[in-house]
Amino acid sequence: MVLKEPDCKVRKEKSMTKLNFADKKITFASSMTEFHYFEPDTVNEAISLLKKFKGYIFAGGTFILPSMRRGEIEPRAFINIKKIESLQFEPRMKNGMVIISSLSTLSGLESSDLLHSKCPVLCDASSSIASFQIRNLATLGGNVCGGGMDILPILIVLNATSVMRDERGQRSIPVSKMQDERSLFQNGSKSILLYVSFVPPSKDEIVAFRKIDDALQVGFRSLSLALRLKRFRKRIQKACIVLGMGALYTIRLEDAEHILEGSDGNGQVIISASDAALTTLKQFESTMDWYAVDIVRVILMRTLREVLS
Ligand SMILES: Cc1cc2nc3c(=O)[nH]c(=O)nc-3n(C[C@H](O)[C@H](O)[C@H](O)COP(=O)(O)OP(=O)(O)OC[C@H]3O[C@@H](n4cnc5c(N)ncnc54)[C@H](O)[C@@H]3O)c2cc1C
Repeated sequence: MVLKEPDCKVRKEKSMTKLNFADKKITFASSMTEFHYFEPDTVNEAISLLKKFKGYIFAGGTFILPSMRRGEIEPRAFINIKKIESLQFEPRMKNGMVIISSLSTLSGLESSDLLHSKCPVLCDASSSIASFQIRNLATLGGNVCGGGMDILPILIVLNATSVMRDERGQRSIPVSKMQDERSLFQNGSKSILLYVSFVPPSKDEIVAFRKIDDALQVGFRSLSLALRLKRFRKRIQKACIVLGMGALYTIRLEDAEHILEGSDGNGQVIISASDAALTTLKQFESTMDWYAVDIVRVILMRTLREVLS
């Protein structure tokens, strides 16, 4: 096996800048650590490199490079998977399932004809992320495996499956369990996400995505909400509501789901379901920003009103 190792070693250097901001001392630190850089041609090569160098998978680099600059990670190696041909394919249908490669860029998802017809909400969510330049580089894999929080809630409501590969072989796990995998990525990547798959929602189901951005740049963490409602004869049979909290974690709003299920989704039910979201969020209060809890209640109420009216 021939491993390419372009000459890409970065000299070790550290720079620190201290700023006096009002009466608080804020320290910005940026560190550059020497690391190896590889561009394997196959998934197997990438896995051997991961094992040997205990490095990080590098896809678009839009999350991992800023993390390195902020000194949050000190990678020993980057394994750039963008040249792996088997991971380069457009979203497609196979056996009634939508299959999306981990290397699909967010701009590719945004403009995919297949996704526009089978699951337009995924196009909407992709187009809500960052700028066009970033979406051109950023990948689905990077978003799901560590870098973002807008695509994960939708994939969870779609009941999607992640297909991962590591040195032990290939395995499928529900995307809802990716959160546990993401914590592993903090200390280097252990496995590679190959693709995600899901059965497209049927025409009578409602799937919606809403996002609250920090439009005023005041330092608010962004929030995203994905929901899926299945109705039969004007009654909500099944509800799934997932909240994405910045790049931190996802929360399933089960108390709200229980209130909606079996109901006709009238105005009073919507208010009760939105209030019930607060019960779920109580458990997370200590880790959530003070403003976030009430925003979730309002955004859920508005979204339910829009989709059920
Ligand atoms: C200015 C800016 C704004 C942003 N705004 C948003 C936003 O609004 N919403 C949002 O969700 N995100 C946002 N992001 C975060 C992020 O860049 C994107 O979500 C993007 O999708 C990450 O993809 P990437 O390919 O660049 O990941 P990378 O930076 O290459 O990788 C991210 C992480 O995932 C791992 N990884 C990547 N691919 C795989 C794989 N196939 N298998 C296993 N592990 C893998 C890497 O090891 C790394 O830990 C923003 C980033 C920037 C810089």
